[in-house]
Amino acid sequence: MVHDCIFCQIVRGEAPAEYIYKNDSLVVFKDIHPHAPVHLLIVPRKHIRSINNIDDEDDGIVSEMIRAGKMMAKEKGIAETGYKLLFNVERGGGQVIFHLHLHLLGGWK
Ligand code: AMP
Ligand code: ZN
Repeated sequence: MVHDCIFCQIVRGEAPAEYIYKNDSLVVFKDIHPHAPVHLLIVPRKHIRSINNIDDEDDGIVSEMIRAGKMMAKEKGIAETGYKLLFNVERGGGQVIFHLHLHLLGGWK
């Protein structure tokens, strides 16, 4: 199914983004309104609304997202100083884009 949400458009290369990493199952790009010196979004190519909507077949992608977060933290030089990996879930949890994404935040002095 083709979705027209903004993250689906970024995943398909139809909307601009500062891409950091791409593979067959996910893309990583810079958050447009960063809340930390390093603020990346790790986004599955598959449109999944939120953590509430993952099912058994999504275990692989959720695990890959976390591993990508770890890899990006290392590449950005913040693995040792530390970082946050964060899912906002639905409106009460601060989610505003309803396409699953993992925030990587770090780089504070
Ligand atoms: P959330 O509150 O978890 O839904 O986070 C959505 C994040 O996406 C926010 O931190 C926004 O700054 C970011 N964002 C929204 N639109 C874009 C975009 N076009 N490119 C990059 N980041 C975006
Ligand atoms: Zn989407």
